[in-house]
Amino acid sequence: MADLKTVPVLVPIGFHADSRKALESLFAVREFQKRDLSELSDDEKARIRGIASFGNVSAAMMDALPALEIVASFGVGYDSVDAAHAASKGIMVTNTPEVLTEEVADTALGLLLMTVRELPQAERHLRAGKWEAEGPYPLTHGTLRGRTVGIMGLGRIGIAIAKRLESFGVEIAYFNRSKRNDVPYAYHGSLEELAAAVDTLIIAAPGGASTDKAINAGVLKALGPKGILINIGRGTTVDEEALIAALQDGTIMAAGLDVFEKEPKVPQALIDLPNAVLLPHVGSASHHTRNEMGNLVVQNLKAWFSGNDVLTPVPECVSAGVRRHG
Ligand code: NAP
Repeated sequence: MADLKTVPVLVPIGFHADSRKALESLFAVREFQKRDLSELSDDEKARIRGIASFGNVSAAMMDALPALEIVASFGVGYDSVDAAHAASKGIMVTNTPEVLTEEVADTALGLLLMTVRELPQAERHLRAGKWEAEGPYPLTHGTLRGRTVGIMGLGRIGIAIAKRLESFGVEIAYFNRSKRNDVPYAYHGSLEELAAAVDTLIIAAPGGASTDKAINAGVLKALGPKGILINIGRGTTVDEEALIAALQDGTIMAAGLDVFEKEPKVPQALIDLPNAVLLPHVGSASHHTRNEMGNLVVQNLKAWFSGNDVLTPVPECVSAGVRRHG
């Protein structure tokens, strides 16, 4: 096996701690500030061969590292890694699919229930002493009973959400760019069509150009006044200004969001809304699942620099036939 200890690998400050330790025991780790290579000397930049990242690897960053061979990204979504550019240069990109699917689906269902039945608001009512002082929390207008749930992005996480939803007794429909032949759920060929056919929309699609602001004022109008929007995918998929307006004027009933357009910045107008449930991007955020994700990042880097196939290459690199040379 190659002497991995001589392989320089960049790891951003704040990276998953146990994985950083594992990487330090295997490689010559150089820490850096996320998105910023300015602290690296030209000599260091010339020698870096791998990056362990949690997103944010631009084409410019890749171009500044002439010996770069692999970007091992922590997370299944890699919209902030320029995978097309990497593939065109023969640089491998890996992500962490599967190991987080069930955790994220659990979070999606939790967020859905919190939003429809106003559970965080009810809890705040109790903690503020209002139950004793003023009486019970008001009955909720929202209920899961009789709902039809549409899923945008019926992939690994979308399917895991749908399986859970089946046990709740709701109707399920979906929109992907292509229809699946292995599911019993109603397919709709556009987002507008799906939104018009359901009253609850869950986003589990990737970020990036193809979904940018796809949930716009028209889609929200089609979802309607009983409408619930849940976003567990990426914040960029929702036009946040249109969503705020739709929540303020009753175009839809409520929203539950785990992801935001410019996180960790969340618009004050969203924070002020009583009919929005807001989580700080915690979809996969348990020790169990983050450890699995970190382990996959380490295994991908280890495989690559040992001359073996990586475990989870992204589709852009598979179709471009990116392989290790030498
Ligand atoms: P996946 O298996 O690749 O599924 C993605 C699904 O989205 C596919 O069914 C795909 O079908 C569909 N899709 C892709 N582009 C689309 C578009 N433009 N319009 C409509 N549908 C589209 O990925 P996954 O593992 O389920 O992960 C999905 C996403 O969840 C990730 O990319 C990430 O952004 C997000 N995520 C969030 C958290 C969190 O903490 N909140 C955690 C993990 C993942 P077609 O190709 O047929 O369109």
